[in-house]
Amino acid sequence: MKSTRRKFLQASVISSAAVLTGGQALAGSIVQPRPATNGSIVISTWDFGRAANAAAWSILERKGRALDAVEAGVRVPEADPSNQSVGYGGLPDRDGRVTLDACIMDEFYNCGSVMALEHITHAISVARLVMEKTPHIVLAGDGALQFALANGFKKENLLTPESEKAWKEWLKRSRYEPAINVENQLFRKENSSYPGGAENHDTIGMVALDASGNLSGACTTSGLAYKIHGRVGDSPIIGAGLYVDNEVGAATSTGVGEEVIRIVGSHLVVELMRQGHSPEAACKMAVQRIIKRSPEKSKNIQVGFLALNKKGEYGAYALQKGFTYAVKSSKTELVKPSKSIYG
Ligand code: ASP
Repeated sequence: MKSTRRKFLQASVISSAAVLTGGQALAGSIVQPRPATNGSIVISTWDFGRAANAAAWSILERKGRALDAVEAGVRVPEADPSNQSVGYGGLPDRDGRVTLDACIMDEFYNCGSVMALEHITHAISVARLVMEKTPHIVLAGDGALQFALANGFKKENLLTPESEKAWKEWLKRSRYEPAINVENQLFRKENSSYPGGAENHDTIGMVALDASGNLSGACTTSGLAYKIHGRVGDSPIIGAGLYVDNEVGAATSTGVGEEVIRIVGSHLVVELMRQGHSPEAACKMAVQRIIKRSPEKSKNIQVGFLALNKKGEYGAYALQKGFTYAVKSSKTELVKPSKSIYG
């Protein structure tokens, strides 16, 4: 009995030492606490990813869960009225309605998505609730709104005066032309009077690796500006706009969603990483798949992929010059231009 109790006490001392030392028990009687290593990293699409990464990082640096980090991260551009492609202040569809698409995925293949959700800024948090509180993965339109309201979200008007003005300008010509992105000088020159600016699409896709070595991702957007009411892009479609496989890596996309859906782009990138390709090479191969299907069309649209593997290596690739992404880890904080096929 005594010896069992002694063994138990010894085991307790060893395990508390292991906790204090981040998993390694020290020799000798004095246990020196030291922080466990934190290989966390978060990456996200476009320049506005930097502010989103900062919010995600405040969770990751405290060794929080990647899932909480990506949700907190993408809520930043969702709430920013100056960002006209995500959440509140997003450019509306051709009927003047702001409809949001978002999805989230964790390290256990749990996922949740909302499509064409109106009146709720934080579509990503509704997507997370779909994942955690329902047996389903996707809720769309009125059903998604009803679910959000039943879960305490408040109905808001997401159409800011600036976005309404841009839409009314657009109505004068009503020409639907998804722009490449602001860096495309030719488009800017030819469309200097393009209502709403040359940039009429962009999504935040974010993927993160936490201190426990687990991956999660989130993706949220108001979709292509002036789209047909009811149009849903790649962003809320698991496998297209976002995919996470905790054994391998995670990927997300931005750009003309129709082209990403056709190739189930983010899932493709993850599977290419599974085959041993680096994140950048995998993103490049997915972009090449889009070109292969439609070489001419691919010259005039933008699609970008961003990927992170289990080792914390990351990379991106786009059709056109101008796609940027933001990275944050304990060693790095930067916004990088992605490599591209054209330009
Ligand atoms: N991928 C988004 C969509 O097609 C838009 C974007 O990223 O620009 O809805």
